[in-house]
Amino acid sequence: MLLSVSGAAFFSPFQLTHIPETTDHMIMAEQEPAAVDILAIAAHPDDVELHIAGTVMKAIAQGHRVAICDLTAGERGSRGSRQLRQQETAAANNILGIPEGYRVNVEIPDGDIQLSPENVLKVVQVIRAFKPQVILFPSERDRHPDHEAAHQLVCRAYFDAGLRAVASTHNSQAQSPHRPARMFMYSHSWEDTPDFVVDISDFFERKLDGLAAYGSQFSVPGRTVEDPAMGPQTFISGNDFMEYSIARMRRLGFQIGARYGEGFQTWGGPLKVEDLLTTI
Ligand SMILES: [Zn+2]
Repeated sequence: MLLSVSGAAFFSPFQLTHIPETTDHMIMAEQEPAAVDILAIAAHPDDVELHIAGTVMKAIAQGHRVAICDLTAGERGSRGSRQLRQQETAAANNILGIPEGYRVNVEIPDGDIQLSPENVLKVVQVIRAFKPQVILFPSERDRHPDHEAAHQLVCRAYFDAGLRAVASTHNSQAQSPHRPARMFMYSHSWEDTPDFVVDISDFFERKLDGLAAYGSQFSVPGRTVEDPAMGPQTFISGNDFMEYSIARMRRLGFQIGARYGEGFQTWGGPLKVEDLLTTI
């Protein structure tokens, strides 16, 4: 089976109400998952939590179905083992409300996300399996080559997923072409000017909980304590980085008259607006 699952065993009643009706524990192994509204794709297992977890949680609370695809296991990181990072992701899934089977890892080698036919096909399979209307994915430019490579890979897979000429299977079953309606990009360290900002104020505290689940990667003031035993300090492991991340959410929120926000850029043309008042 191509798709591996890093799932969660326990969900709060709040989260249960948003689990797609057909979810079961074998969903990725034996049948196609229910279509989702939004598919968030990231290079590393903590990227979604850091950059767009508020948007993900808000979408779930609004009744939308959300799936996450991590391209790598983050095994080249300076801190934390592959196993520990899987445990951290499972804990974060509980906090975000991602049901079992709705977070997959296609296990491309960390640090080596190549635009190869094999890797494109892996992402095509995920897009066709979840059939999202909207994809959230990394922006084009960043200090980390994996993030830039993930951008290129998703762009190619987005196109190929809609082509009948590109054959793919999932559990030996032929998949149908599917091309999502929209793709929106999120920034990592190199910030782009967003085209729109999602108000995540109501989900800010839970977002910090989700980041605190990644104890090997981050230090979240008030929630976790920096542990030297985890390994050497990294670009993202100290309080400084988390304070910057929080300040960034606060700045983006301020720009739309909210407390905290997450920014996105459009990809593939301008947004369609039917009613100007929906933008207020
Ligand atoms: Zn990353």
